[in-house]
This record gives sequence, structure tokens and C-alpha cells, in this order.
Amino acid sequence: MASITGNTPAEAVFERVLPNALVVKSNELFALARKSSLWTLSFGLACCAIEMIDAHMSHHDLDRFGVVTWPSPRQADVMIVAGTVVKKMGEPIKRLYEQMPDPKWVIAMGSCATNGGPYYRSYSVVMGVDHLIPVDVYVPGCPPRPEALLYGVMELQKKISQDAKKRTLPQPLQRKPTPS
Ligand code: SF4
Repeated sequence: MASITGNTPAEAVFERVLPNALVVKSNELFALARKSSLWTLSFGLACCAIEMIDAHMSHHDLDRFGVVTWPSPRQADVMIVAGTVVKKMGEPIKRLYEQMPDPKWVIAMGSCATNGGPYYRSYSVVMGVDHLIPVDVYVPGCPPRPEALLYGVMELQKKISQDAKKRTLPQPLQRKPTPS
């Protein structure tokens, strides 16, 4: 009597010719490489920068996520805006962002970079860095702890993978600039 084996799928020819080979879409493969090797442009604007520096030190060790701090925008992927964005810094921030190669991402770290924080509606402070450049991840807090930045980096990694699956280029929201 013939045994009932159920609905067995046919053997994949590809697996027979190339055993143990993985098949992935190229943009997902590139996203995997990019998210595992984020180089952050190293500059801090105010007190949040101390927490950002701490996140790179041995205790929190951002390096284990492939995050390396880098002193030039020419090779950096991620800009971490850590601190108060005063209006005088607006142009340098925009210039540094434009000098970074595509694809690139921005993390707004702390209340000041998110919406002006304690300096909300101050005459000299920009009400969030997204008035100048597009932001992908916001890390709340005044200041956020290094663990919060770590979580923000992991969220950015998730976003990079999801964008690759959707086969779209990253399209972060950007607020319209407010008249100064
Ligand atoms: S959010 Fe708070 S800790 Fe961070 S730069 Fe602004 S005032 Fe300083």
C-alpha cells in the first residue's frame, strides 16, 4: 500500500546546482552591509554630546553594532545631531550634511535637536534640526542616556532594512522652514 506523504514540494533545481547558496535581493544585501557598518559624523553641539561620547566608550560600546565615529563627512553615513542647534550653526550643519555621500541618515539626539528643548522659541535657537535637514530617528530626553541613543541606532538599523524591503529610497519627513 502506498504511504501518504502529504503535499511535498518539488526539489528546487537551484539548490541541487548550488547547495547552501542564499538568494537575496541586491538592495537588501547592500542594506544589511550598510546597517551593520554605520559611520557617524562626529560632532557635538552641547551637553547631549557628552552622552553621545559616552555611548561610544567602553561601557556601552557602540562599536559592537558596527557604529564607528568618523571625523569627516566624506565617508560618514549618519549624522548624530547632539545638542542645541543655534541659528549660527544652521549653515555649517547643512553644508556638512550635503558633503555626506548618499545614502545618508540623521539622528536628532535630545530635546534641543528635536524641537528646541528648553530653548523653545528662543531668539537664537532653531526649533528642531528638521527645519534644516531631514531627520530619520528622534531620540527624546534632556539629555537622553547613552542607552537611548543605542536604541535610536537600532531603530535606524531597522528602518534601513525596511526601506530596502520596500525597495524605496529613504524618504524622511522634513518640516517646512519657519520664517526667521
Ligand atoms: S536636550 Fe538638554 S542636555 Fe541635550 S543639549 Fe539640550 S539642554 Fe543640553
